[in-house]
Amino acid sequence: MSSHPLASPEEPFYIKIHPQDNVAIVVNTHGLPAGTRFPCGLVLTESVPQGHKVALVAIAAGQPVLRYQAIIGYALRDIPAGGWVHERLLKMPDARGLDDLPIATREPTMLPPLEGYTFEGYRNPDGSVGTRNLLAITTTVQCVAGVVDVAVKRIREELLPKYPHVDDVVGLEHSYGCGVAIEAPDAIVPIRTLRNISLNPNFGGEVLVVSLGCEKLQPQRLLPPGAIPIIDERSVADVGENAEPPLDVVCLQDDHHVGFQSMIASIMARAESHLERLNARRRETCPASELVIGVQCGGSDAFSGVTANPAVGFCTDLLVRAGATVLFSEVTEVRDGIDQLTARAANAEVAGALIREMAWYDAYLDRSRVDRSANTTPGNKQGGLSNIVEKAIGSIIKSGTASIAGVLSPGERLNGQKGLVFAATPASDFICGALQLAAGMTLHVFTTGRGTPYGLAAAPVIKVATRSDLARRWHDLMDINAGRIATGEATIEEVGWELFRRLLEVASGRQKTWAEHWKLHNALVLFNPAPVT
Ligand code: CA
Repeated sequence: MSSHPLASPEEPFYIKIHPQDNVAIVVNTHGLPAGTRFPCGLVLTESVPQGHKVALVAIAAGQPVLRYQAIIGYALRDIPAGGWVHERLLKMPDARGLDDLPIATREPTMLPPLEGYTFEGYRNPDGSVGTRNLLAITTTVQCVAGVVDVAVKRIREELLPKYPHVDDVVGLEHSYGCGVAIEAPDAIVPIRTLRNISLNPNFGGEVLVVSLGCEKLQPQRLLPPGAIPIIDERSVADVGENAEPPLDVVCLQDDHHVGFQSMIASIMARAESHLERLNARRRETCPASELVIGVQCGGSDAFSGVTANPAVGFCTDLLVRAGATVLFSEVTEVRDGIDQLTARAANAEVAGALIREMAWYDAYLDRSRVDRSANTTPGNKQGGLSNIVEKAIGSIIKSGTASIAGVLSPGERLNGQKGLVFAATPASDFICGALQLAAGMTLHVFTTGRGTPYGLAAAPVIKVATRSDLARRWHDLMDINAGRIATGEATIEEVGWELFRRLLEVASGRQKTWAEHWKLHNALVLFNPAPVT
């Protein structure tokens, strides 16, 4: 990456990522007017907004436009040196086919181990480690959401003061459960997502279900025998050897419920037995290898791939070196770099699984006659990202340089995989977050350029701003400012280490994220690729 150190905020300033690139992005906060002369002698032929691309040389019609040494488009007409290269001047390249991809061709990157880093976590009977001690109330259907919402408020106000070691209570409310084609093959996605979220390590193995009674997603279908591990003597004592512990369900349509108040009383009574066990838990020192970190981006801009995502990528490598698990996701934002990913696969099986997930998603989009280009938003384009190819190349950087050790289909849970894992999800922020929670994520890293107050109730979200202007304006929402990289005030490595250390602090409960501080939580949105009825 070449950039000028920022002598003064007024000096015209651009960032070129790779020596072969023929475009660079303008860094100055309010953009630059026509006639601006850069120190290298380049003169703008028109005004260029912040984060948008300027042609460094004349680009003839039909010639490739290169950013990150990748072809992000072909010029639709002649573009002069110093011209603004925006999305209307670019023809997007076709998606790379899924045949003849390089399979595990890259030499495995042997990153040196990083030892001695620990955090204070809640170790669960199944061996997983949580970063928070939360009571979750699982719901089988949207119909019960209002009742559960009231119960959650009452539990928080009336019961939690008696259980000071429990951080909070979380209602897992969603729009699934009835009015859906539950026998459709793809219904497995929302069902296993909800099942696996219920088993997230931050919930300590305690599962309390609120059901309506008549819904399609019956409790035993959501959590069939064997889904919840028999985790302690209590379960065995209750039901005897070799028997399943009963699923703890409050069913609102049960005959013994007379009136709304009796439903709330039932939920609160059941909650107390779970709260007692959760309250007995204490944090203990755990190696950093027990962390499961999900990374994603949202509200991206042209700086995402220059500042925040490279810093997250550096941190991803640190985490993998420390033995931790890092989930990266967002199929439409990696689709244009699939050849990089299959080459980085640890083995042919992992590469095959990556191709399987891309093919599934291609077909899913094709059913509605759209493709991955449906991903980019008006905000992305205002932020300087011309198309999904440019967005994707800047997004994949979050995954660092490690070999890809495993692949999860949407809603699947980690099953012993460590290191860098691709968890296939849509790029939609809340759906990606929900699917990463299902995978077992206990801490979330989220990069944003346009800005979003995004948060999750079930896991802390550390937000990384791509620009100093956003970090300044949203000073009490952004946790890390990676914009300092663009202005030369910090290096990618420095911000990557800052994020790594912050992750350990937040995981240990010694520091809260801004979203936790303000209690900002987005809805739990399940991915349902199957029909509704
Ligand atoms: Ca996203």
